[in-house]
Amino acid sequence: MGYDAIRVLVADADRQRAETLHTLLTAGADPPFEVVSAARLDDAVRALREDPFDAVLADLNLRDSQGLPTLAILLTYAGGAPVVVLSERADDPIPLRALQQGAHDQLPRDQLYPTPVVRSIRYAVEQNRTELALRESEQRYRTLFQQSRDAVYLADDAHRLVEVNRAAMELFGYSAEELIGRDLRLLFADEADHAALERQLSASGAVRELEVRMRTREGRELWCLLAATARGQLAGGSSGSQGIIHDVTERKRAELRLEHDALHDQLTGLPNRALLMNRLEHAVRVWSRQPDSPFVLLFLDLDRFKWVNDTLGHDAGDQVLRRTAGLLRSCVRGGDTVGRLGGDEFVVLLEGIGSVGEAIQIAERMLRLLDRPYRLKGREFYTTASIGISWPAERSWSAEDLIREADEAMYRAKSHGGGRYVLFDPAMHRAAVSRLEVESDLRQALGREEFMLLYQPILSMSTGRTTGFEALVRWNHPRRGTLVPDDFVPLAEETGLIVPLGLWVLREAARQLRHWTQTRQAGEEIVMSCNLSPRQLLDPTVVDQVAAILRDERVRPDRMMLEVTETALMQDPEQAAARLDALRDLGIRLCLDDFGTGYSSLAHLRRFPLDTLKVDRSFVGRLDHSPRDLQLVATITALARHLGIHSIIEGVETSGQLARIRSLRPSEVQGFLFARPLMADDAAAFLRDGRADVRPIRRGVLGGLLQRLGQA
Ligand code: C2E
Ligand code: MG
Ligand code: MG
Repeated sequence: MGYDAIRVLVADADRQRAETLHTLLTAGADPPFEVVSAARLDDAVRALREDPFDAVLADLNLRDSQGLPTLAILLTYAGGAPVVVLSERADDPIPLRALQQGAHDQLPRDQLYPTPVVRSIRYAVEQNRTELALRESEQRYRTLFQQSRDAVYLADDAHRLVEVNRAAMELFGYSAEELIGRDLRLLFADEADHAALERQLSASGAVRELEVRMRTREGRELWCLLAATARGQLAGGSSGSQGIIHDVTERKRAELRLEHDALHDQLTGLPNRALLMNRLEHAVRVWSRQPDSPFVLLFLDLDRFKWVNDTLGHDAGDQVLRRTAGLLRSCVRGGDTVGRLGGDEFVVLLEGIGSVGEAIQIAERMLRLLDRPYRLKGREFYTTASIGISWPAERSWSAEDLIREADEAMYRAKSHGGGRYVLFDPAMHRAAVSRLEVESDLRQALGREEFMLLYQPILSMSTGRTTGFEALVRWNHPRRGTLVPDDFVPLAEETGLIVPLGLWVLREAARQLRHWTQTRQAGEEIVMSCNLSPRQLLDPTVVDQVAAILRDERVRPDRMMLEVTETALMQDPEQAAARLDALRDLGIRLCLDDFGTGYSSLAHLRRFPLDTLKVDRSFVGRLDHSPRDLQLVATITALARHLGIHSIIEGVETSGQLARIRSLRPSEVQGFLFARPLMADDAAAFLRDGRADVRPIRRGVLGGLLQRLGQA
């Protein structure tokens, strides 16, 4: 990098020496200096004012000014440029004083040779430039220090604050006077953080980014990032330290909030699955080291929660969940964990518990508290729950195992009607495994065409003719053989698989009916009944699907009947009514199945658009020895007659039973006495000639039977 020529002002009254200096500075320097000469101070000052010089080389005895005053004036106008003075001899006292007063260097008059003179001037200029730069940089740092938005401090080796910037005062709320001289630890919220700082400083001399908690004058806690250096390390610096403090309280709060949110359920504030599993795994670890510190796991699932959500809306559902969370928490001790796994599933981890008996008491208390009535959306409401209880034993070592076991026990509680707790036992586990197997098989069964329908005739009580069939599903399981609905329908219902399965049943039954009518095996009056499960009834698409099936299979709607149970209607009466009305509008017939086992509500009979009432088969089974049941069936059939709808008595197995119900005058009967559920071909044969291969009964057999009974 080439730099500008050095400009030198030579002030000397001695003309010859001035010329010598001129030659020496221009010819002796490379590149040559630019030299201006002045014999008088006046001229020198004028030159200095006109243009800046890099250096002044002066003999202090000028024509119009002598001695040190000359220096003072030259320094004033030199604008910071170094002034080198000529001295008489080496021991001349004036140049010495001149040096004290600001001259840069001195050159003896008798040694004006090119090399020392050029070197002296060049050195003076260089040194001056460096000093200037240093001063500038110091100034810059000072400004930085003062204007930094981060708090900056200097402390001595006894941790006393020596200097603080404005940001530090603002951040901590102290004035400079209140801080200077005070211990740095005043600003730390935690003594341990300061100790960590000191440790790192003395180990490595610097701390790049230490997260510390600090405290303001009003006692507010701050999260800060601190960077510091030990000042002993700086050249010439005294020992101690200096640091920059960056306030990250906001960010830290957000981080902590995120961390909390990641481990807690938003709705209830309870620990979520992740945190819960964490605690459970910890409990398992502790237990495996100290088996005498047991713990117990409760798995709780609300009963009918889906119904609440679907009917009363999600805000009502949320309210129920929050209430549940609060109640559960109130039942446990501080060290226990109540967490929400998701949905309406809660898990309670009881640690340091004395016995399973104690856990049972807690579970009972939870059920009792939950069951208390409260108001929800203006209605009186109560919640029940099913609780499964498991605890660590030799067989189960992992958190997952324990959760699964408690879940299985919960499931058992649920299938017994809910509102109760069940303790896990290994047999339950085996049942659950088999259930799982069936479930996974069930998922594939539809695609593999493993289902088939049987058709059970329904006969008119007055004519003895077959008026219709009830389609009953069977599953030809590849390993387990033929399964009846009781073996898989509940599971299909629970998993939702009943929806596609039910639609398959409807389509297949409709197809079969059309085939029979088209081939004239069945008359126009035959009605095909299919069972509609609760889940299907609540499925919003069911009406469209049924309509599509009727259309596709070209079956008259009034040839199809759907059987629903009272329980299905009760799950959500409003929706059920709307759904049944829509189905009824399609022209489909509707039958209330298994009547008499549940609510047997007259109101339901009025409210829903029913064509037929089917008396549950359990009544018929008891007719032989229970006059009371006979009375009940009589009432039901009379009720149907009164409402102008059909009645079917199902499950008629013996002629004795038939004799008893005869006088009750139901519209129709169905039962093993007439025919078991039949394969399609057998059902067609039964229609054709009243003969079922399984049990040879002629057409009109009922009429014959009735006649014979009448004669008897
Ligand atoms: P359900 O609708 O009450 O059907 C009548 C059940 O009673 C049938 O059992 C039938 O075989 C049986 N049964 C008929 N006559 C007699 C008799 O004289 N004595 C005795 N002991 N039983 C008789 P199944 O086929 O085992 O069906 C059981 C239940 O499974 C049905 O009860 C129905 O609720 C359900 N189900 C059957 N098929 C389907 C279906 O396709 N979808 C749905 N959602 N449920 C179905
Ligand atoms: Mg039925
Ligand atoms: Mg039934």
